[in-house]
Amino acid sequence: MATASSVPPETVRALPTDAARQVQWGFADRFDLQLLVQSARAVARGPVARLVASGGRNSHEWTDGKAALLEAFDRAGITAVFMEPEEGGLFAGPKNLALALVAFELAWVDGGAATASLAGCLALSPIHERGTKEQKRHYMRLAAPAQPGEDRKPWRGAFCLTEPIPYVGVDTGMLNGKFRIAEWKPGEDPVLQVEKRGRFITNIGFANFVTAAVDSDDERIKGSCIVILEESDPGVFDRGTPTRKMVHQLSSTGDPIFKLRVPASRIVGGYEIKDGVLVPHYNHSEIIEAVFRRTRVTVGIMTAAKLLSSVEPVIRYQRGRFRGAETATPGSVRYELGLQAREDALHRLVDVWATGEASASLAFAAARVFDDLDPLEKEMEGLYASRGLTALKAKAKLLREAADEAVSLLQLPLDDERRDALNSDLRLRFVALDSLADVLCPAAKLWNTGWGAQMMREAVSLMGGYGITEDCPGFLGNKWMDAQLEATYEGPEAVQRRQLSVTMTSPMFLAQFRSWIREMRGIASDHPGTGACALATAMTMWLWTINHLQKGRDADGGKLYQSARQGVTFPLADALCWLVAARCQILDVLRLEQQGGDDASLAEGLPGLVNFLIDLCHVQTARASGEVARICAELVFGYNRHPAWDKEGTCSCWRADELDELENLMPGINSYAFDVVGNNGSHPQKAGPCVNCGAAQPFLSLHTKLDGCLTGSRLAKDRAAESISKIMIPEALDYPA
Ligand SMILES: Cc1cc2nc3c(=O)[nH]c(=O)nc-3n(C[C@H](O)[C@H](O)[C@H](O)COP(=O)(O)OP(=O)(O)OC[C@H]3O[C@@H](n4cnc5c(N)ncnc54)[C@H](O)[C@@H]3O)c2cc1C
Repeated sequence: MATASSVPPETVRALPTDAARQVQWGFADRFDLQLLVQSARAVARGPVARLVASGGRNSHEWTDGKAALLEAFDRAGITAVFMEPEEGGLFAGPKNLALALVAFELAWVDGGAATASLAGCLALSPIHERGTKEQKRHYMRLAAPAQPGEDRKPWRGAFCLTEPIPYVGVDTGMLNGKFRIAEWKPGEDPVLQVEKRGRFITNIGFANFVTAAVDSDDERIKGSCIVILEESDPGVFDRGTPTRKMVHQLSSTGDPIFKLRVPASRIVGGYEIKDGVLVPHYNHSEIIEAVFRRTRVTVGIMTAAKLLSSVEPVIRYQRGRFRGAETATPGSVRYELGLQAREDALHRLVDVWATGEASASLAFAAARVFDDLDPLEKEMEGLYASRGLTALKAKAKLLREAADEAVSLLQLPLDDERRDALNSDLRLRFVALDSLADVLCPAAKLWNTGWGAQMMREAVSLMGGYGITEDCPGFLGNKWMDAQLEATYEGPEAVQRRQLSVTMTSPMFLAQFRSWIREMRGIASDHPGTGACALATAMTMWLWTINHLQKGRDADGGKLYQSARQGVTFPLADALCWLVAARCQILDVLRLEQQGGDDASLAEGLPGLVNFLIDLCHVQTARASGEVARICAELVFGYNRHPAWDKEGTCSCWRADELDELENLMPGINSYAFDVVGNNGSHPQKAGPCVNCGAAQPFLSLHTKLDGCLTGSRLAKDRAAESISKIMIPEALDYPA
């Protein structure tokens, strides 16, 4: 008789539904966002998909078909997401998750369409983040879609930072764009002459306004700024020729030239006059930092959407691969399973799917953190004002003290009441969330797009030759190439790694990271199948390694952890991303398990779906742990010089004659000794005496432990693979090929 424990676990029956995703990605209680998803999806799988299928990507020009998409975005409410209701927007409050969901839906079909929509927000972002009240009111209203009865076209914007080589690229400080005072009548605002050339500027084919980074070319102006340019300003507003892109062809990109006269009131955030000198309130770097901090999350989400969108077309292709052949009769394995009868085809799809899950969870987590952070930032402004803190130094001091306090509270046991302040004290909540955002944003941009592009190649390869044709369902070939742009624009991987190498060492972040290790062990005890225990061990290894490298020196005495040493800091940043992404994935699946039952439409298939997603977590944590172990081992040992068969290297080796003498006292010692140097100087055939790893012994113990922690991960992969071979998919893709 079967016992309860021998009942096979429930398996997943169908692809995750919207209801499941709403719980996983934290918007089950946001009906407004659920509606927005449906609207964005209708545009993506309707007009966008039809344009791609009809060859809309084959032209670099800004065509009527592409322009029609912008109007479709307006009608669907996508353009209005960025604005507040009083500016013509859809809803009040933070918009990070909303924008991430729109990006996800559009990029599910085409990254260029998503970019065309997001670039408008990027152009407005400097004004949104640091603009004066008047600037915000003016430009947000102009950019909002027309209300019923209004006869006007919404303004479109472009964000212009990058310049022709040799100026601004990754290094945003090398500005060649200039502004100077053209006219300054007594008692009036100065008039500026702005000269800026852009390179690869999105939306430029149709932009009505541009937010451009420029530096002072006038001793009467101090520093740099972001300035707003309009197409009707006197002078040259040359959109340049379209960039001959191989990616994202549904967005407009070009190299514009601007030589314009504009009033000084266009300086974003305003300015003051000090001793006859015009001083912008914000320099271009301050504004860019505030802007990219949020907008990069949405770029990260785009690649996640691509990976998850590839699952259904790949399953359909694999299943139908041999149908129609004489030997593949209905009911035969060849007919029913097609390529899915082959383990490797399934295992690779498991990897693609697991990466898609982890990257979506990471980027949506980052978006939610910014949604939580936005109101806190405003509350903090209130706190500064109530304490009379205006100077940057005074604010920084308050934040430093709060961070110290939060770090010491985080070290207390979980049940210590003093920890409650971490949730109730505004300062402490702010510093904790801020340091988290500082890590999650670059991690989502870096890992999702960089590793995502690699995994998109895997997805394409699963479709064989079809994958690299224009006919490939789901446009997978396009998505693979597009992913590389997502890894590049808004700062390529080096920029994200550079930022992480600073933010991941903040004591505030590290204190939270330590608490994640405890959190993962706790989860592992209730849900051993998630791989959370392996993840906790890999986290411990990462922590040990960064600590070791921060203090350590290389074989020549050079400091290891320092900004110039990208060979150390960058791989550690990569390793952290694997950990952060896998953790977010686990947390989302647990949320689904705990809250999914509240939704009647989900309840029935929930256990099977959760079991499957847990198996994907296990697969992903195993991969993440392996990556971390590989990267850390290389860094811990790679900067030591290997001993050679020279005097110094052999000083701790046995000599053959010594051993012979000892053999008389301790018979058998000869058979235990290795690295023995012969009386004639001969030595074993290898690179040198084996390394003495004394200082790295704790690392080796962790490594051994981690290897053991991988136990069961391949069984999880086998189960996930089998589930995929049985999962139901719709008859046909819901957007054209
Ligand atoms: C289709 C498209 C649309 C774009 N849209 C816009 C837009 O709307 N607005 C805008 O302002 N820009 C836009 N860009 C520009 C984009 O942001 C830049 O291309 C990107 O930031 C990289 O700059 P770069 O091309 O000059 O590369 P480079 O700066 O020349 O970098 C080349 C390589 O060197 C590496 N590298 C450079 N510096 C360092 C360093 N310090 N440390 C380590 N490695 C380094 C980089 O990681 C990269 O791998 C767009 C680009 C494209 C292709």
